[in-house]
Amino acid sequence: MTEKGLLIVLSGPSGVGKGTVRQAIFSKGKREFIYSISATTRQSRPGEVDGVDYFFKTRESFEKMIEAEELLEYTQYVGNYYGTPIDYVKKTLESGKDVFLEIEVRGAMQVKERMPEGVFIFLTPPNMDELEARIINRGTDASPIIRQRMEKAIEEIDLMRYYDYAVENDTVENAVNKILAIIQSEHLKVSRLLESKISNEEE
Ligand code: 5GP
Repeated sequence: MTEKGLLIVLSGPSGVGKGTVRQAIFSKGKREFIYSISATTRQSRPGEVDGVDYFFKTRESFEKMIEAEELLEYTQYVGNYYGTPIDYVKKTLESGKDVFLEIEVRGAMQVKERMPEGVFIFLTPPNMDELEARIINRGTDASPIIRQRMEKAIEEIDLMRYYDYAVENDTVENAVNKILAIIQSEHLKVSRLLESKISNEEE
């Protein structure tokens, strides 16, 4: 029975540690996870590689992707566009692999509208002071941007109620273990198993 891959949406405020947790999941998980690389108009940070961390775009070419409906979701975040190319997500899910999206909250809500069968996981900071400290320690943002990111974080935490799961990022190891357990049980859901059985029989 070929089971369709799971769409896993890992979201939460900027600075909460989504990237670190995602990387740890990829190195620890026994299943093969595929990361969906986002497109963005933000400047690359030192060490970031085009086509690995993001597809870095001009505003003009990003807007062309929007017009051509090439994005599953997109948003403007602190002055830049961010979005998920749709083709890659769909093809990977059909091949039976799990796809990971690591995106902010408004984009996650758009994905929920279009693909409600996804698993929506909200990563929470232990508290707001800790979140601010993480954004400052990352050292990649100037102070007005840090303030904007904190304001956004407060709005974002309010949207946690629309998610399936909330996982506190107290330590990376705890968060990873909890997320892997969620994914494992989602794969064992009778409704999902029956759905893939029916679609296999129809083929
Ligand atoms: P950063 O500039 O720190 O890389 O990302 C800023 C925020 O945008 C983070 O919360 C990150 O998870 C989110 N983000 C990255 N890619 C996407 C995307 O494709 N769509 C949406 N909606 N948010 C994204």
